[in-house]
Amino acid sequence: MAIPESTYPSKLKTANLGFPRMGRERELKFALEGYWSGKRTAEDLLNVARTLRAEHWCLQKAAGIDFVPSNDFSLYDHVLDALVLIGATPERFGAGPVTLDRYFAMARNSREQTAMEMTKWFDTNYHYLVPEWSEGLAFTVDPSKLVAELREARELGIETRPVIIGPLTLLLLGKGVRGFAPLTLLPRVISAYREVFAQLAAEDVAWVQIDEPILATDLPEGAADAFRTAYAALTETPIKLMLTTYFDAIGSNLPLAVELGTAGIHIDLVRAPEQLQTVAESLKPKQVLSVGCVEGRNVWLTNFVHATSSLLAAVALLGEDRVIVAPSSSLLHVPHDLRSESKLPKRLAGWLRFAEEKLSEIVALGSFDTHAIAANAEAIADREAAETTVNPKVRSQIASLEAKDFARAAVYADRTQIQRAELGLPLFPTTTIGSFPQTAEVRKHRAAHKHGHETTEQYEAYLRSSIEDCIRQQETIGLDVLVHGEFERNDMVEYFAEFLDGFAFTENGWVQSYGSRCVKPPVIYGDVARPRSMTVKWTEYARSLTSRPMKGMLTGPITILQWSFVRNDIPRKDTAWQIALALRDEVRDLEAAGIRIIQVDEPALREGLPLRRANWHAYLEWAVMAFRLATSSVCNGTQIHTHMCYCEFDDILPAIAALDADVISMETARSQMELLEAFRAHGYPNEIGPGVYDIHSPRVPDTSEMKKLLDLALQVLKPEQIWVNPDCGLKTRTWPETVAALTNMCHAAAQLRASSVGV
Ligand code: GLN
Ligand code: ZN
Repeated sequence: MAIPESTYPSKLKTANLGFPRMGRERELKFALEGYWSGKRTAEDLLNVARTLRAEHWCLQKAAGIDFVPSNDFSLYDHVLDALVLIGATPERFGAGPVTLDRYFAMARNSREQTAMEMTKWFDTNYHYLVPEWSEGLAFTVDPSKLVAELREARELGIETRPVIIGPLTLLLLGKGVRGFAPLTLLPRVISAYREVFAQLAAEDVAWVQIDEPILATDLPEGAADAFRTAYAALTETPIKLMLTTYFDAIGSNLPLAVELGTAGIHIDLVRAPEQLQTVAESLKPKQVLSVGCVEGRNVWLTNFVHATSSLLAAVALLGEDRVIVAPSSSLLHVPHDLRSESKLPKRLAGWLRFAEEKLSEIVALGSFDTHAIAANAEAIADREAAETTVNPKVRSQIASLEAKDFARAAVYADRTQIQRAELGLPLFPTTTIGSFPQTAEVRKHRAAHKHGHETTEQYEAYLRSSIEDCIRQQETIGLDVLVHGEFERNDMVEYFAEFLDGFAFTENGWVQSYGSRCVKPPVIYGDVARPRSMTVKWTEYARSLTSRPMKGMLTGPITILQWSFVRNDIPRKDTAWQIALALRDEVRDLEAAGIRIIQVDEPALREGLPLRRANWHAYLEWAVMAFRLATSSVCNGTQIHTHMCYCEFDDILPAIAALDADVISMETARSQMELLEAFRAHGYPNEIGPGVYDIHSPRVPDTSEMKKLLDLALQVLKPEQIWVNPDCGLKTRTWPETVAALTNMCHAAAQLRASSVGV
C-alpha cells in the first residue's frame, strides 16, 4: 500500500557506513598485486589508493550523502588497520611503527613467516585477519591513517565521519595467544581508544561511526560489563558516537546498547525489520536512530514502500531530527556499480542495485523523492509480475515432496554392507577431494576457449587428455577411488550455475573476499532448474578409462546458495531446495551412467549458520534436508560422499551426522585432535576421511607424519570407518607436490592395513 505524500517529512539526514574499496575496475587489486610482485613502487600503490578514496568520497558527496565515511578504506583489511591504530599488532611481527612491508607481512604468508590467521567477518564472505591478543602487546597508538584520511577528504571539501571498529568487537573477534583471555586487556585497549579519540577531538571531528556488530550476536560472559566500562570512558569526549550494529537484530543486547549512552545507534532493518519499534521506543531522549533500510550485502533494489513506512514510523516516534537513513551495513559486500554491466538481461538489471545505485536509493528515501518512489514501485511491480522468475514445474515438484524424498531407502548400517560387497574397496580406502592441479596451462586453455581463440573441439580434446593423464597418475600413485580432476571447472559454484536456469552472471560484479582477492558471485534471480546434465559427460569419460571406481563430484545446495547473491523474494530455504532438486537430477544421471560413488561438497554448510544460536536449529534443519533431497534417491549400493572445510565442526556435528552421507571427508590436518575429540563426544556413526595433510601448504609431509594422524584417528574411530585423503582439493598445488604427497599418503594407508590384519 502506498503512503500518502502529505505525511512525508521534509528531509531526513542520510549516511553511508562504508564503500567498496577496490575501485570500479579493481584498480586497488592490480596496484596491490603489482606492488607485491615488485612491478610497482610503494608510491605508486599509495597514489592509486589515494585516488580511489578521493573518487569514492566525491561520488558519495555528489550523490547527496550527509555522513560520508572515512577510514573505511583499507590496503588489506579494516581489522588489521584497527590493530595498527591502537598499537596491538601481533608481537611476532616485531615492534615499532608499522611499515608498509610489515603491514603486508602480517597479512600474507611468505617463505619467512606465517601470516595472521584469516576468518570470515560474521556471516559474510569477507575475511578479516584475526587479532592475536597477548600480554606483551605495545599499545602504541598510531592514528596516522585515520587522521590522514580525514584531512585528505577535508582538502576536497568533504567532512567525513570516520569509521572505527569498536573495542569490544575488536577484542572478541580475536584469539588469545596460548589461552590468554582477551578481555583482560580491556583497560589497555580502552586507554588506547581514548588516545585515538583525543586525537580526533583535536581535529574537531564531530561524529565517529563505531562499529560493534558483536552486539548482534550472543555475547560471551563478561562482555556486557566490559562494554559498560569501555563506553563510560569513550563517551566522555565531545565526539558523538554512532554505535553501529548490523547483520542481525540487537535483540537481548538492546538495553545494554542503549545504556552505553552513545549519541546514536544504527540498526540493520533489512536482516531484522521487526526490531524498529522496540529500539526506537527504548532510546534515550536525545539518541539518534540510524535506520539501515537499504541492504548493504545483497544486490536487490529496496522496496520503498517498506522502507518509507519504517522511516515514517521512526519519525513518528522520534521526530525528523533523530532519524538517519542508511544502508543496513557497509556497502563493502556489494559490487561497485551497475553501469559497467552491459550483458545482463535488461529487465533483471532494473531490479538490481550495486553500491553506487544504493547511495541513490538512500538519498531518494531521505528526501521522500516522489518520482523515485513511483519509479521504485514500478520496478518492484515489474519484478513481482515477472514470469521469468517462476517455474511452475519446479514449484509443483517442491510442493509435492514427501518424507521419502529426504531419506535413503535403507539405513547406513545396511547400506554399508551392500556398498562393501559391490564396491570391493580395501580397508582404509584412499581417495582425493576432487580437484587436481589447475595449472597455468589449464587456465590458459579455458581463457582461450572463453574468448573464442580455441574451438570447443580443441578445448574439449585438451580436457580429455588432462583427464586421462590425471587418471594414469592416480593409478600409478595407487589410489583406490579415483576422480576426473575437475579441469573443466573455473569455480565450484560458477561452473554449476552456468548450467542452471534462474542464475545470471555479471561482467564486473566483484566483491572483496580478502586482501586483493575478489569474487564474482552469480545472481540467483529466479526459480532454479536443470535443463541438462552438468557433469555426466566428463565423469563418464573418466570412468571409461579405468577399472577402478570413479567418484562423481558435485557442489552441494547450501554451498551454491551461500556463494551466490540470493534472491530475496522467496525464502532462502525454497531456493536451496530448488537447487537440491536440480542436483538430485544430476545425481540420478550420474548413477544411471554407472557412477557408483558421488560426492556432494558442502564446504559452506557451517558458514550459513545464523549469528544467534537460537536461530541455528531452524537453519540446520532445512539445510540438512536440502542435502538429503539432493542425495537420497540413489540405490543403497551407491555411495554418497560429502566434504567440508574451513570450519570448527564440533558444534554442528549432530547436523553433519544427520546429512546421512555414507562418507564425509573433512579439513582437519591443522587441528586433528580437536575434530577427533568432537567425534569421540558425539559418536559419529558413518564413515569419515579426516584429512591427513594440509593442502594449503606446498610442504610434502612424509609417510610417518600421516600415519601418526591415522593412528590417532584409530583411537576414536573403528577401522572400517576410516578413509584416507588430503584435507581439501588439490587445485592450488603443483603436480610434483601432489604426486609426492599422495604417494606418501598411500604408503601410510598400506602400513595401516598391514598392521590391522585380522581386525
Ligand atoms: N571438490 C572441490 C575440490 O576438490 C572441493 C573444494 C572445497 O572444498 N572448497 O576442489
Ligand atoms: Zn575443502
